[in-house]
Amino acid sequence: MATVKFDNATRVYPGNDSPSVDQLNIDIEDGEFLVLVGPSGCGKSTSLRMLAGLEEVNDGKIWIGDRDVTDLSPKDRDVAMVFQNYALYPHMSVAENMGFALKIAGEDKAQIRERVEEAAKILDLTQFLDRKPKALSGGQRQRVAMGRAIVRSPQVFLMDEPLSNLDAKLRVQTRTQIASLQRRLGVTTVYVTHDQVEAMTMGDRVALLKDGILQQCDSPRRMYDHPD
Ligand code: ADP
Ligand code: ADP
Repeated sequence: MATVKFDNATRVYPGNDSPSVDQLNIDIEDGEFLVLVGPSGCGKSTSLRMLAGLEEVNDGKIWIGDRDVTDLSPKDRDVAMVFQNYALYPHMSVAENMGFALKIAGEDKAQIRERVEEAAKILDLTQFLDRKPKALSGGQRQRVAMGRAIVRSPQVFLMDEPLSNLDAKLRVQTRTQIASLQRRLGVTTVYVTHDQVEAMTMGDRVALLKDGILQQCDSPRRMYDHPD
């Protein structure tokens, strides 16, 4: 676990006149669930991708704990990211999908099995471990994608609109599961959504972006109950 700091982080895409993210400053606490919210194109994904190391930072810095990670590759940052298009390996079982990154990292089998079983328990996937992804519902698949990320025990957990492919009912269900999972793990989490209700119900704090500029960063209660 670790704190995260966007320290004047700025991204100008080649060919663009104005920054897509402009001097972003957010201090995220250890174990906090921070939601980045705002309309399409406001710079949420770019911010998350800068934190993940998937996008160049043109000015400012990104910190994880007391490490300046601005120039580190994604794999050296100890972050795990879940995307909206949860690409699971179709020919592998749920357990193999979840354990794959650990296997690649050379962890021993007993250790992988233990971590996979632990994550499956938390995510309510124990009975599905031997199934193939195609035999799962959309919500279950999304949980496998999360399981694959959390078995690595990352310091920071990143999610980019993970629920956008689910239907309304499943979205509400999975929203609750993600929030309780995060609280159980206590892992510092940055979650991107354009959905204000998601932001309000899931986040310890909500950071509202508009045109690449941070408008407000506060608890949901302060942000939405007293909008003035
Ligand atoms: P959001 O996630 O809030 O929808 P993005 O971070 O994806 O917003 O995009 C922020 C802005 O940056 C938008 O104006 C978008 O058009 C622009 N943008 C995103 N990716 C690129 C890119 N690869 N090249 C040029 N402009 C981009
Ligand atoms: P292989 O023998 O090709 O490595 P396995 O069938 O052993 O593939 O599965 C890959 C990984 O997933 C292994 O590291 C294993 O520990 C884990 N795994 C497989 N089945 C389960 C299961 N039912 N519960 C927990 N972990 C499992």
